[in-house]
Amino acid sequence: MRSDSTRCTIVLPVLNEESVIEKTASELFSAFLEVNMDILFVDDGSTDSTWKKITELSRDNPLISGMRFSRNFGKESAMLAGISDARGDCVIVMDADLQHPPSAALEMFKMWSRGAGEIIEGVKTRRQEEGFLNKFGAKTFYRILRALSGIDLDNASDFKLLDRAAADLIISMPERQTFFRAMSGWTGLKTARVYFDAPPRAGGVSKFSMFKLMKMAVNSITAYTSLPMQLVTVTGLGFFLFALVMSVQTLYMKLYGKAAGGFTTVIILLLLIGSILMISLGIIGIYISKIYNEVKCRPRYVLAETTGDRIGGGKV
Ligand code: UDP
Ligand code: MG
Repeated sequence: MRSDSTRCTIVLPVLNEESVIEKTASELFSAFLEVNMDILFVDDGSTDSTWKKITELSRDNPLISGMRFSRNFGKESAMLAGISDARGDCVIVMDADLQHPPSAALEMFKMWSRGAGEIIEGVKTRRQEEGFLNKFGAKTFYRILRALSGIDLDNASDFKLLDRAAADLIISMPERQTFFRAMSGWTGLKTARVYFDAPPRAGGVSKFSMFKLMKMAVNSITAYTSLPMQLVTVTGLGFFLFALVMSVQTLYMKLYGKAAGGFTTVIILLLLIGSILMISLGIIGIYISKIYNEVKCRPRYVLAETTGDRIGGGKV
């Protein structure tokens, strides 16, 4: 084990989690009884009494602190805000609904203490309480992402331990649209894994709708690969070759006076080319909008208030 002064900060992004945060905090403290640990809640624009509860908790316990966003900026921003404000020698990021078990978090800390890695990743062994659609969606999405960008994220989660160096590296990444799950893999730092079963939520409901998940899928693919744009060029080349062959055939028909008919071919080609052009423009549009968002360089979040004893300032 490292020296006794080794501190671990647990970052919990929360959005309308009033029904679970107290339970989560107390379970974390009982799991980390022998560890120098503190909790940092990042309230991602909750509209229920979550912030009130965080304030109360931090008043009663100096090891609990919190920061509140002015509105919902998304889990990605909340996690990064927490990582940049965490004061521990290592940071554990986990969901606040106890779907990431405190016992697995402790296991991560122990592995890190033994020097198993600079990053310890939580890997889901089973997908519980998820409908067929979600399960299928997640699988397909990870398969597409792997094929396009080479990043293997099957069963990966946002449940991770980062040591100071890894945390600093991740905070220093300047991009606005982030995908935390894949960032740690990108760093190439020494990584170990902890496997965990995700139990059902301790309370409340999931904050990710199908629409939000699809948006996240598109965002993360475009954040990690520009291959879809290259596909546009490849498709264009393919069509050019096809057009050459068709032109030769058409000229041949014309020259030999057999150029009647062919109406169906024209319609089909027109529709096909039209739709491919539109899809291609759409793909390019997605990337342009991402570039636009990045060059605006807006802050990732706006802090409304903080509670508890926060040391160190956020630089995100
Ligand atoms: N969360 C957040 N901001 C959001 C959505 C979710 O901070 O915009 C938090 C949420 O409070 C929870 C964690 O992210 O602590 C995971 O969310 P959830 O459990 O709803 O996702 P699921 O487990 O269903 O994928
Ligand atoms: Mg959850």
